[in-house]
Amino acid sequence: MGFKGLGLVYDPIYLEHDTGGHVEQPKRLTETLAVLEAKGITERLVKLSPRAAAAEEVAQIHTRDYFKRLASFCQAGGGHLDPDTVASPRSFEVALAAVGGLLNAVDAVQEGTVARAFALVRPPGHHALPHRAMGFCLFNNVAVAARYARQKYGIDRILIVDWDYHHGNGTEAVFYAEPGVLYFSTHSATGYPGTGRVERVGEGPGEGFNVNIPLPDLAGDEDFGFVFDEILVPVAEEYSPGLVLVSAGQDGYRMDPIAGMDLTPRGYGLMAAAVRRIADRHAGGRLVGCLEGGYHLPGLGECVCAILEQWAGKEGHSGDSRWQVKPEVEAAAAAVKRVHRSYWRCFAGG
Ligand SMILES: [Zn+2]
Repeated sequence: MGFKGLGLVYDPIYLEHDTGGHVEQPKRLTETLAVLEAKGITERLVKLSPRAAAAEEVAQIHTRDYFKRLASFCQAGGGHLDPDTVASPRSFEVALAAVGGLLNAVDAVQEGTVARAFALVRPPGHHALPHRAMGFCLFNNVAVAARYARQKYGIDRILIVDWDYHHGNGTEAVFYAEPGVLYFSTHSATGYPGTGRVERVGEGPGEGFNVNIPLPDLAGDEDFGFVFDEILVPVAEEYSPGLVLVSAGQDGYRMDPIAGMDLTPRGYGLMAAAVRRIADRHAGGRLVGCLEGGYHLPGLGECVCAILEQWAGKEGHSGDSRWQVKPEVEAAAAAVKRVHRSYWRCFAGG
């Protein structure tokens, strides 16, 4: 069988979530598409359309009460859901299309229509909790997709890699007690929302399946390359996921207006290549990315482009092994290994 290509989920409906003067704005998508077009990536992508997620699908993660409240809030004209999160009259439908876009991406990859997929959607999802919106997020797109993949395709080990600058507290909360979904997150140790400590390893049957890597601000490409090599790759090797989902937030980009990391498009390419190798080795290549944060225009587009370049071809970047690592990042990685040594054989000797 030949290479089926990289799917891109997009639809203009995603521009109808009107956030006013907010950094999480429709231009994030239109400017990203312009960069992809200018770099000649668009013609290498397979277009995928979204659908509206069904209430039953969203209810696998979110409470029916929240679902109804959000619908009527938007119908009544919208406004502020919390100090950071706004909704417009169309936001409920757009949020359903964001979830449904990711579900279609999962279907396309599972059914073999495409080899991999990226969902260029908004609103983002990883802060959304079962019972409420939070941090620009309305529904937790990736969490609904993981549950859907598990139920529809019987995938019993799903890896979620979240490289957004901010900790995905919503995703962590949903799967905290579940071994069937391994949540791996790199994030700022000091940034919003203040969650994501390394000691938060999961609970009950999920103990050990929540891997938080809080990093100092100013961590850059080499630091993230190191952390992915030292922690994600060996853990994934032991876990052997049947599907890899990526909460792809590009707000770690060095010029991002609301964050403080030092990543460049090269760093996103390195991380994209790493998750791709994991998916190829364990999951039959099945890999689905979903846009989360990233607020610098056009830096977001450059970073998404670097990711798609690693996923669009038959072969990706082969991987580096020597990294120039900041001492604070080395210490952060050592702490993760220490905390997780009783759960993962790869860290047992540490
Ligand atoms: Zn973020």
